[in-house]
Amino acid sequence: MLPKYKRILLKLSGESLMGEGNYGIDHRVISQYAYDIKAATDLGVQVAVVIGGGNIYRGMNEKETGIERAQGDYMGMLATVINGMAMQSGLEKVGLYTRLQSAIKMEQIAEPYIRRRAIRHLEKGRVVIFGAGTGNPYFTTDTAASLRAIEIQADVILKGTRVDGIYTADPEKDPTATRFETITFSEVYQKSLNVMDMTAFTLCQENKLPIIVFDMNRPGNLLQVIMGKNVGTLVKG
Ligand code: UDP
Repeated sequence: MLPKYKRILLKLSGESLMGEGNYGIDHRVISQYAYDIKAATDLGVQVAVVIGGGNIYRGMNEKETGIERAQGDYMGMLATVINGMAMQSGLEKVGLYTRLQSAIKMEQIAEPYIRRRAIRHLEKGRVVIFGAGTGNPYFTTDTAASLRAIEIQADVILKGTRVDGIYTADPEKDPTATRFETITFSEVYQKSLNVMDMTAFTLCQENKLPIIVFDMNRPGNLLQVIMGKNVGTLVKG
């Protein structure tokens, strides 16, 4: 069977990298993700990755941190670069070629983000990690993921979470909640479901970029999604 998608953008949350811990990076999570990504590239799938920074720093909470929003947001963007470097090492350990491209210039550790170059890397089978979000405060890494996915003409954005899709209600609170196999963008609005923040979500909708929300913490799940199996929830137009 051939994979359903040729080029994917995988969005990983910073928080998922914590694993069992409550801060920082768990190397076991990195390793699992690396093996899962390798299984995809082994099939010839081109993989780009955007990682969040929530396990290290979130800039949005000015009241809690005492640091002004824009400043905190830049700190959050730097956190995504740290996570990106960790992921890069994990991917190299399983034998993959990688490039880290940063939206904020830091030449010693990452290439600057150059769209055409990123596409070229992907074509050569390298995993491209996009760090530093969009490079702008007041945005999220979900928005960075949507933006980059559109720019590189990915077939789909895969949002790896701890839940295996979008539910009619919060499955942790409501045992009768059921998972949507597919749902449209407008249904998500109508039902006020929380898939991504509005900026990120609207970008996908306007550019007809499908989103799949799935549980990335279950080993092998990424491959199932790529093969088009009924895993997670597909959001489409
Ligand atoms: N951030 C930002 N602009 C971006 C992407 C991220 O300002 O384009 C900052 C923002 O403060 C955010 C933090 O980086 O809280 C970490 O990203 P995010 O919260 O999206 O990470 P995740 O929730 O996926 O771990």
